[in-house]
Formats: sequence, C-alpha cells, structure tokens
Amino acid sequence: MRSINPYTNKVVASYQAYSEAETKHIIKEVDHAFGEWKHTTLEERKALVLKLEEQLLKQEDYLAELIVAEMGKVKHEAISEIKKCAWVCRYYAENGQQFLDRELIQADASESFVSFQPLGTILAVMPWNFPFWQVFRFLAPALMAGNTVVLKHARNVQGCSLAIEKLMKDAGFPKDVFRSLIIGGAAVKQVIENSKVKGVTLTGSTPAGKAVASVAGSVLKKSVLELGGSDPYLILEDANLEEAARLCASSRLLNAGQSCIGAKRFIVFESVYKQFREAFVEEMKKAIYGDPMETAITIGPLARHDLRDELHGQVSASLAKGAKVLCGGFIPEHQAAFYPPTVMDQIMPGMPAYEEELFGPVASLLKVKTEEEAVQIANDTVFGLGAGIFTADLDRGKRLAEKGLDAGCVFINDFVKSDPRLPFGGIKESGFGRELSLYGLREFVNIKTVVVK
Ligand code: NDP
Repeated sequence: MRSINPYTNKVVASYQAYSEAETKHIIKEVDHAFGEWKHTTLEERKALVLKLEEQLLKQEDYLAELIVAEMGKVKHEAISEIKKCAWVCRYYAENGQQFLDRELIQADASESFVSFQPLGTILAVMPWNFPFWQVFRFLAPALMAGNTVVLKHARNVQGCSLAIEKLMKDAGFPKDVFRSLIIGGAAVKQVIENSKVKGVTLTGSTPAGKAVASVAGSVLKKSVLELGGSDPYLILEDANLEEAARLCASSRLLNAGQSCIGAKRFIVFESVYKQFREAFVEEMKKAIYGDPMETAITIGPLARHDLRDELHGQVSASLAKGAKVLCGGFIPEHQAAFYPPTVMDQIMPGMPAYEEELFGPVASLLKVKTEEEAVQIANDTVFGLGAGIFTADLDRGKRLAEKGLDAGCVFINDFVKSDPRLPFGGIKESGFGRELSLYGLREFVNIKTVVVK
C-alpha cells in the first residue's frame, strides 16, 4: 500500500499489507487486552483519554504535516482537525462517567436499572478525508465505554493510521487496547467474521457501507454507518444573501470539498436567485488553490488523482446533459490533483450533479418557485445526511427543519458542522446509527437491564 502526496505526486511511504495470519494474531491480542481493559475504572480511563488529548496537542504540528503529505488538505485545516480530536477526547473524558452511570427505572420490582457494559473489540473502517477526526470521534467514546479497537484505515493514509497507534502508546494506554490493521478493503470481511470482533463502524462511501453492513448482518453484528451525502441548502426569499453566500461557499470549499456534510446543492428561491448566484460565485472565486503547506492557500489538491478525475467526469457528464458552468469546471495543468472551485446551474434530474455525491469543490445551483418545490427537490435524493436553511423567519426555518427535510442534521442560518456535544449521522443511504454525544457512546455498549425482585 502506498501513500502518494497529491500535491507533489511523489510516494510518501509504502507499507506491506498484513497477512491473514498476522491480522488474526493482532485481533487475538486486542481481544486479550479487552479482558483487562473492561475492568478498568472510569477514573482510570478518563486519565488516559486526557493523556491522549495532551499528546495530540503536543504533536499537532507533526501530525498536521502528516495529514497534508498523505491527503493534501491545507495545513491550517489539518491543525484544526487535530485540535478537534483533542476536544472530543476531553469531552468524553469529562462526560463519560455521566453517560455510563446506571439509569434507575421505576418498575414492578424493588429495584430496576440499566447498566451500560462494553461489548469488546470493535472494528473501525475509516476514510481518508479527515484521517484523524473520523477515527477519534469513534475512538474517544469507545475507549471510555471500555471497548478495545482495531482500525482499518483507507489505503492512502496508512501513515496516519500508524501515528494514531503511536499516540495511544505515547499516552500510556495498556498494550493492544488499540491496534492498526494494515489491510485492504477485501480483507475486511474476514475481520468482521472473526468471532473476537463484536461490531463494526464505517465512515465512507455508500457502496463500502453496503458491503460492510451485509457482512455484519450475515454474522449478526452491530454496525454503524456514516456514509455519503448530497446536502441541500435552502435559500429562502428573506435570507441574508451576502451572509448565506459566504457561509455556503465556506461549507462547499472546506477540505477542498471532500466532506460528507459539505453543502452541495443550493436550492434558491426565484426572487433572489440572481442576487444569490452572483454573490456565491464571487465567494467561490475568492478561493485560491495551491501548495497546501502555504498559509495563504484556501484549498489544496484533492486526495488522489483518480478521485479528481472521477469528479471531473461527473462535472463533464452534467455539462453534456445541459448544465451550465459559471466558474471552474476544468483540470488545471499541474502535477497536483487540483480541481478549481466550480459552480454549475441549470441542474436537472438525471444529471450526476443532481443524482450523485460530488466529492470536491463543485456546487450545483437550482432555482425554485415555492416552498413545496424546494422541499421536494431537497428530498429527491438517496442521501439524507445534513441540510441547511437560510431565512430570517426562524419559525418557518424550524418547521422546515423538523417536518420538511429528510436529513440527520439541519442547521438554520449556518452550515452543518460536527460537534462532540451533538449527535451526528444520517438516514436513507447516508447510513444509520449516530456518532458523538450521549447517542454515539451508547451505540457500542450492552444496554443491560438488571431487575431485583
Ligand atoms: P471508500 O468508501 O471506498 O473508502 C472508505 C473506507 O472503506 C476505506 O478504508 C476503504 O478501504 C474501505 N472500503 C472500501 N470498500 C470496502 C469494502 N467493499 N469492504 C470493506 N471496506 C471497504 O472511499 P474511496 O476512497 O474509494 O472514495 C470514493 C468516494 O467515496 C468519494 O469520492 C466519496 O464520494 C465517497 N467518500 C465519502 C466519505 C464520507 O465521509 N462520506 C469519505 C470518503 C469517501 P480502502 O481504502 O482500502 O479501499
């Protein structure tokens, strides 16, 4: 397996994939570690998770540069990603006790309560777009709950995977509470089927999610899936258009557009369409792509050349079917996997820009006449992850958020962001289950009922 720097197009490092026997051996060791880890007190776990926070902050510059080298995001965003991992560690260290406390329930017996017990070793299959954050938002609650973890990271970020293993060591965790598995997607089936693995969480594309959930289902193991999205943003007649354009462009360009919760389809009321389109294209054009290590650069290259080419294929196919490009839409002459900020309008059903997830800095504008039409188009997708609404009428915004849009998270007058304190996840083909907050921690525990007559 090779990590290729998408800016220089040079190999960063090569890794020999683990054999089936090596993988089995590691899982056996992690299962053995669970035997002791599940008996640690919450105070002991809290102290170690806080040490993990400390190590992340201590090593943030080195870790950020590793992210930049392996997947190309700009360094200031990589630093923010590491800081956010530190935050999620602190959040679960401080709240774990309360989330895992016995829950007393008044029933017929003299005493009834719910106890939250760890399940064992959980497999995390993770993507390259936020190579630390995607792992840590699962890892921090899993550790607090008393589970042990094996990580199968995306093939292009194996350096990040091994750096997380080392961070756990530096923080002083007992041996084998967390291990990285250097394996390809094809080897995941055997890991899920291993009787010592008790559940699986995956963040990535919908096809990968379907493959993993099918295997997990066949051996009756719990799975949580955080998959793709084609997040709709409604721009209503009374929205603050300047502000909406600025926030929508920020969301679309974050991580060079490679975010499952990036704003992707902008559904704009006819009366403000022209004004919004102008302001939005202006904001998108302000972004500068270039060397991700330079502070003035807004967007780096996409994570891999094949992903960039796939994105351009989706744009070209949409244009061939009648979409119009307002900016961008070409592959720049450069060794880096750059794709320029791109805006298209006149988007129609049947075009990739309407039907599929566009995982890069490409925005699709759609014009609507009524609220019903806006909601119908917003929901006319297989995905249901995030959504945004821009309006001055907060009651109307809340009504649309609660009753109108089919999504796991809706933000009003802002773009969707994950936050350790709030549940995160989707519906439809964006997956099932939740991460973060109390809900995320409760996904991989045995919710055990205890009744005393
Ligand atoms: P994938 O979804 O294929 O990869 C994500 C993770 O799943 C990786 O660790 C990958 O391993 C693993 N994986 C892939 N297929 C399987 C399988 N059949 N069984 C078990 N594990 C599997 O993402 P890609 O890198 O191929 O990106 C393709 C597209 O996916 C993007 O363009 C984007 O649309 C979407 N995507 C969405 C993300 C999100 O956050 N919603 C994140 C990343 C991608 P390996 O790398 O070894 O193949």
